[in-house]
Amino acid sequence: MKIRLAAPLQRDSVVDGLGVRTVIWTQGCSHNCPFCHNAFTQDFDGGFLEDVENIKEELEELKEQDGITLSGGDPLFQIGPVLEIAKYAKKKKMNIWCYTGFTWEEVLELGAKNPKYLEFLNNIDVLVDGKFIMKLRDPNCLFRGSSNQRLIDVPKTLKEGKIVLIPESDGIMEKFLPKEKTFI
Ligand code: SF4
Repeated sequence: MKIRLAAPLQRDSVVDGLGVRTVIWTQGCSHNCPFCHNAFTQDFDGGFLEDVENIKEELEELKEQDGITLSGGDPLFQIGPVLEIAKYAKKKKMNIWCYTGFTWEEVLELGAKNPKYLEFLNNIDVLVDGKFIMKLRDPNCLFRGSSNQRLIDVPKTLKEGKIVLIPESDGIMEKFLPKEKTFI
């Protein structure tokens, strides 16, 4: 199975979620947010195709990371391969974040038509949802650009049937990471 990527895997990111993370930059997004911070990742024919098996091998080699982050572009436009990657990472007990321009509610709607979206949610830890909206841009927002975007605690949200956000006060977020740095 192939996935279209915007860039090679990026190790040691500290701005794409909590801790030190490896980011998988997917290519392709049609949300078309004005002032998109990664406009070059929107083109569905851009970037390059990568074999999902190669990505799994790269994840296998990682050391000293707190987790992985799926970003882009919008990973959810490639639900088949990102589900495959999320399931693999989950099996390896990695902490998994995903950025998407869809809202949580829209992802559930997608899931009503294609169960892979729900399966994907069942394999990740945090969903950062919603488009980037310039007039709501707020540099104080942790790990996201505008205040409409939410850091959703996915397992709790699925369990409770209502959106549960990751608390952002000092020290609390660390609870959402595995105790030991690295999965691998
Ligand atoms: S969802 Fe992200 S990548 Fe897509 S247009 Fe909006 S800011 Fe750009």
